[in-house]
Amino acid sequence: MAKMMKALMYDKPGRENSSIREIPYPECGDDEVIIKVMTASICKGVEHDHDNGTGTDLAKYPVVPGHEFSGYVYEIGKNVTDVKPGDRVTADNTEYCGECYYCKKEESNYCPTFGSLGHNINGGFAEFVRLKKEKVFHIPDSVSFNAAALCEPIACCLHAVDRSNVKYGDTVVVFGAGSMGLILAELFQASNAKKVYIIAGTESKMKKAAAKGVSTIVMNRNDYSVHEKKLLEENPLGVDIIVDATGSPKVCENSMKLLKKGGMLLQYAVVHSKEKMQLDPQLMFNNELTFTTSFCQSHNFGRAIEMLESGIVDGDDLVTGEYPLDEFYDALDENVTDRNSVKVVIHPSYEK
Ligand SMILES: [Zn+2]
Ligand SMILES: [Zn+2]
Repeated sequence: MAKMMKALMYDKPGRENSSIREIPYPECGDDEVIIKVMTASICKGVEHDHDNGTGTDLAKYPVVPGHEFSGYVYEIGKNVTDVKPGDRVTADNTEYCGECYYCKKEESNYCPTFGSLGHNINGGFAEFVRLKKEKVFHIPDSVSFNAAALCEPIACCLHAVDRSNVKYGDTVVVFGAGSMGLILAELFQASNAKKVYIIAGTESKMKKAAAKGVSTIVMNRNDYSVHEKKLLEENPLGVDIIVDATGSPKVCENSMKLLKKGGMLLQYAVVHSKEKMQLDPQLMFNNELTFTTSFCQSHNFGRAIEMLESGIVDGDDLVTGEYPLDEFYDALDENVTDRNSVKVVIHPSYEK
């Protein structure tokens, strides 16, 4: 009988169309690597979209979700020389053609066929996951499996820092203290910025960034003028860069007036609603303001591992919950409903 493995599978978007069940173990091609997944972390927005019936933009069902994972190399194809069974690894989840105009410029996140494990290819919420050999990265012994699973969000946040063109002495504000907001704040804190703020509603989460020296301001969700006043008292001219990691068009709209002349608003978080955003063209023109965005990443996994190894990002500190694969739905519910929850991880191959 064919070898089987346990996996979370969505036949269509929506929890009722999903289950944790036995599916065939993936066949390892000559240029492929099978990873035994030790940690797969929940990317809250994405997993919630699979689960609530919305589906994700890149998804093709049926699919095993999960694009952030780490584990041991379990099996290798005959052309694989860089890794061997037993090696500790993580893997770049992105998929692209490698031949188009953008791929040749190493801008594979613009590739017309851009996809990702966990969306249109089976991902990491399974005992095993199959990767192309060039996607697999060694992780140092000092980096835990939980931390290494966060290389994907860190790689995306590095892309955002690059897009911000942060300059020596800049003041940077990150709105939102979810996992992305915290990672962004930690990366900017280690950049050439003079001062980095995180502004969010949940103090317990901001403490994680404060431990790295990031300044915190509590967000008043009912009256933005309260936290805005505090920020402008400390920065009368405004700030150089604001990064939105809340996904709220309202936060973005209000941010423009907090920028210095020549400043930049970078929309990082995915805006899930169809809500439109209103930016003031006169203010933008007169003050030479920039509005930009950051979508996924391209070739940043090596740097992401270095951010963990150096301690610039404290991966283990971001993990607030751990569950076996059988309790995936409880884990997702905790991540979505508990305000104090940051990164919740799944262990598909718990060693008992
Ligand atoms: Zn993610
Ligand atoms: Zn391409």
